[in-house]
Amino acid sequence: MENKTKKVTKYTSRAELIEDIVHWNDTPVTACKEAEYVQNLKDIHTRLLRSDASKLPLADFVQKNNLSDVELFLLLRISILHLQRVLNASFFQISTLLTKGQIFGTRQEVLSILLDHKSVLFTEGIFIGLGDRIDLKVNFLTAPASRKRKVKKRTLNPKRVLAEINKYVIGQDDAKKKLVAGVFEHLTKCANAKNGQIFNKSNIFISGPTGTGKTYMCQCLAKILKIPFIHADASQYTQTGYVGMDVSDILRPLIPHSSAGKMPIAIVFIDEIDKIRRGSEGYGGAASTNVQVELLRLIESRRYRLQEKSLIRNVMNFDISQVLFVVGGAFESLQVNHTDKSVGFTHAPIVKKETLTADDFIAYGMLPELIGRFSYFVQLKGLEKEDLRKILFNPHNGPLQQYKDLLHTSNKVSDETLETLLDNACERHLGARGLHQQVGQLFQTQFLEKAVQIEI
Ligand code: ADP
Repeated sequence: MENKTKKVTKYTSRAELIEDIVHWNDTPVTACKEAEYVQNLKDIHTRLLRSDASKLPLADFVQKNNLSDVELFLLLRISILHLQRVLNASFFQISTLLTKGQIFGTRQEVLSILLDHKSVLFTEGIFIGLGDRIDLKVNFLTAPASRKRKVKKRTLNPKRVLAEINKYVIGQDDAKKKLVAGVFEHLTKCANAKNGQIFNKSNIFISGPTGTGKTYMCQCLAKILKIPFIHADASQYTQTGYVGMDVSDILRPLIPHSSAGKMPIAIVFIDEIDKIRRGSEGYGGAASTNVQVELLRLIESRRYRLQEKSLIRNVMNFDISQVLFVVGGAFESLQVNHTDKSVGFTHAPIVKKETLTADDFIAYGMLPELIGRFSYFVQLKGLEKEDLRKILFNPHNGPLQQYKDLLHTSNKVSDETLETLLDNACERHLGARGLHQQVGQLFQTQFLEKAVQIEI
């Protein structure tokens, strides 16, 4: 194979092609082998382009489905792997079958072979979409550079990270420290796990009134650490098997960041956890409790199976030990500085406290088993007028700065207007979110005056 690909001559017979296919790189692509892998495939591609298509196996099938040469090559490759596994056939038997063109009776058969190997394909960077025709996209051929994951060692200093977060997130000093400590515990465990150590995760539970920075804090932290951040809304999920999004969907955005079946170090923030407390279904069913059970399974797992959403439900198995889960909720009725709202008749009366504990969340309607999976309980405080003032004028992504950057304006807003704006934001009890609304209204009319150029 090596000699042949160096010369890059055209294939003279089907047998020659099949031999290439069978002996083609048997091991999965790893970062260091990728260049060789790609070169290998490019050589074969060149040879195929120079060959007479009618001499190749499956000529009819290729024509009907408008398969490219590389797609054909991969199709054959996968089919051979499949046949070797299923039929336990020898290379000679398979090449005879292929050269006589007797493998693929129907399109259905081919599709089922392809689907059967979807997870293998997926980890090798090949994606299949089933439409009218079989559509294989060899993304490492077209964009090898983008797939290359450079493993760089970085030293992260918690003090520097905290200082960076302080620029963006105003107030909440205890919460920020706890969050950074929790994340650094996780990072330390991930670093040590490289030496074969298995660890229990230090998942984090954040509570605090709306608009006080629960999401923002985690988002900023992930950005500073340059790790993926996923935001999910717990109230959108249904029990597996029901119409709607499955809990397993939460991890789907991390698939492209994964390598060799392992998900990267990432923060997955599951918001609105208080909306799925026991008894919140409204119709007396057990749906919320079941979603909590499924979240528990996700949070405590080291490996997690993700099911394809195609007709043939293919399963991919991922190592998720590096994924840190942060769960957040407003728990409004538990907050001391908030007007009372009914908690529902199924729960014991709630005693409001300055510091909330695991027991308070259990009394609120969270499953004890789920709450038991968190090592850090981070509590955010309601934002006072002076906090909102600092947020308003914060040069690092503060709302005034955001709009000024957006409109390229340096127009001064009068002190009086800003004072009224702060008072209005305070009255709304929406934290910094209320502030953003107010500032948005202030600049609204300016969007009617400025033309914008967009690329379509
Ligand atoms: P929640 O607590 O409901 O998750 P978010 O974190 O989504 O609220 O906050 C909404 C927006 O308000 C953020 O995008 C951010 O711009 C701003 N914000 C909230 N809290 C703070 C804070 N403590 N410091 C600076 N900005 C904040």
